[in-house]
Amino acid sequence: MESIVREITREIKESQVPDKYRPISFEEYLRMVFEDPRLVRNAYQRLYDMILSHGTHIAKVHDKEVIHYNFFDDPFGKGEDAIYGIDEALKNLVDTINAAAKGLGPERRIILLHGPVATSKSTIGRLFRRGLEEYSKTEDGRLYTFEWDVSDFDDEPTDVVPCPIFEEPLRLIPIEQRQKILVELNRIFKEKYHGEYELRVEGDLCPKCRFYFNRFMRLYEDDLEKVLKHVTVRRLILSEKDRRGIATFEPKDKKNQDEEELTGGLNWRLVQIYGSDSDPRAFNYDGELCIANRGIFDGEELLKLQEEFLYDFLHATQEHVIKPKKNPRIDIDTVILGRTNSPEYKRVKSNERMEAFNDRTRKIDIPYVLRKSDEEKIYRKFFGKNRVWGKHIAPHTLEMAALWAVLTRLEEPSADISLLQKAKIYDGESIPNRTVDVKKLLDEAKGKEGFFGISPRYVIDMISKALVNDVEGCINPYRVLAMLEDNLPHHPGVDENRIEEYKEYIELVKEELSAICQEEVRRVISHDPEELRQVGQKYLDHVMAYLNDEKVEDRYTGEEMEPDEEFMRSIEKQIGITEAQKDDFRQEISNWISERARKGEPFSPEHNDRLRRALEKKLWEDKKHNINFTAMVSDKTTDPEHKKRKAEWIERLKKEYGYCDVCAENVIDYAGAEVAREELEKRESRLP
Ligand SMILES: [Zn+2]
Ligand SMILES: [Zn+2]
Repeated sequence: MESIVREITREIKESQVPDKYRPISFEEYLRMVFEDPRLVRNAYQRLYDMILSHGTHIAKVHDKEVIHYNFFDDPFGKGEDAIYGIDEALKNLVDTINAAAKGLGPERRIILLHGPVATSKSTIGRLFRRGLEEYSKTEDGRLYTFEWDVSDFDDEPTDVVPCPIFEEPLRLIPIEQRQKILVELNRIFKEKYHGEYELRVEGDLCPKCRFYFNRFMRLYEDDLEKVLKHVTVRRLILSEKDRRGIATFEPKDKKNQDEEELTGGLNWRLVQIYGSDSDPRAFNYDGELCIANRGIFDGEELLKLQEEFLYDFLHATQEHVIKPKKNPRIDIDTVILGRTNSPEYKRVKSNERMEAFNDRTRKIDIPYVLRKSDEEKIYRKFFGKNRVWGKHIAPHTLEMAALWAVLTRLEEPSADISLLQKAKIYDGESIPNRTVDVKKLLDEAKGKEGFFGISPRYVIDMISKALVNDVEGCINPYRVLAMLEDNLPHHPGVDENRIEEYKEYIELVKEELSAICQEEVRRVISHDPEELRQVGQKYLDHVMAYLNDEKVEDRYTGEEMEPDEEFMRSIEKQIGITEAQKDDFRQEISNWISERARKGEPFSPEHNDRLRRALEKKLWEDKKHNINFTAMVSDKTTDPEHKKRKAEWIERLKKEYGYCDVCAENVIDYAGAEVAREELEKRESRLP
């Protein structure tokens, strides 16, 4: 047992920040600051550098290049803190923080994250808080504060008094002299760290520190050197739990709202000790705005705050000052972040008395995701890969739910494409035989799309509900779509005027899903790699001969013959290549072959996606008449051959497409029924 404790102790010690407990003299701190001027960065500058410290890369959004900040990709590996699909909004946010770091204005505003319910607003706040905590533990992100040694004074109840708001030690230097130091620090910062902004240490000591500062100054007759001997500099590790530099806040209802919650209030025990309620030592510097000094103040539903308290925010943002009752002003240095939902924002926006407040906010829109694959990633975050609570999630379940959610968030396109096609274009798909001006499409919808429709929370709730109600051990997309549809009228977050519309989108998604399922079953049933390769090779031979105006040599007989037009067309038609498009397609295939050859890569027909699809469909067409679907669907067949084949398909669906036994069987039966129905219709239409 003893060795376990020793081992744990060693691990804990090794993971600690090196100078966590080391007392540092003021002089030594000054040397450290000249070594690394970044120590004195303000809260916005530190936040900005923290975000950048995680790196960036260029992301492509609809052919447009956008800087992507890796910080938003679940930097602490918890799985739930990744933000998807809103690169442009995040860039706008980081740009604002950058401008605040440079002192260009936003540092005197509340950064207000605005958007519909259940976007990533809370995740952004959580990431900033956690990010700052972690950054403060690193060499690059470290910061310091100080405490007073007051043991010489008999009237103090303790020997050591830390600055209650974790001030930067340079604040101990009076402003005039401090400026001279800062000029030198900025020179070093630019030279050594290529600093892009100006380091500023603004504001006066907090009232409590000012009290001791003045007291020591009197004692030593303004000999600052002697005064500073009573100061010990300490490493500051920001911590939300310990209420150091990171504060969260949520307005309570009217009756319970207490101003002191933001600014702090009197400590009556200390009032008794010091004998006065205006003694700065008798004040509790525990208001959330004090706690947030050096770091971040993160306010939920900020606009629900009573108007009278909003003035505390105005001072805190505009002047970086807190004005508590019965106590002098407190200069603070903190990022003020707020979040608000659209309805609340509209209400406050239209309130004239709130004008001052509106002027002091910098609104950053955080919209819903408009790309299906990004929306799907949000659900994956909750439901993992494809098994949750011991239950299987059938392929396309999350994808189709995501498609539906995205459809509810789009405006009808004015171009002559369907809403479904619009969703596909947004997701980076191309519409066959069409060129669509994506930029125009996006411009048209800018600022509107992403602010209405179904929230990811509703979808996640319904998927959970489907999982809870499931008895088969597997939920499929049809089950989830039904759940999404049935609960629309009962859900508080759903706009009741749009329910009919939402139901129509369910139908659209079902059609899409049906096509996907049929395609998959097709591929599984017709799959014969050897046959596919042979037919594919034959197609390539004929295409090359066709393009080069040559004859084809038969691989077996060696006989020369004309390229077989009918054969080539029978394959191309499978993926909708028209007579007019066939030359382009053949040229494209030829280019693809040359490209692979040039790179020294082997090529085989199944390596080309479009060609493989065409071949699979062709083989399927050739085969499907030999498969008795109707028999299979009714499942009365006793034919052992059928059973064997079906078992093979199920295996393949499991191996290649991620189905389980339950959903594989379902999809074969379902798609089989669809094909059988189609066949019947065709046969009927052929009747005279
Ligand atoms: Zn202080
Ligand atoms: Zn399944």
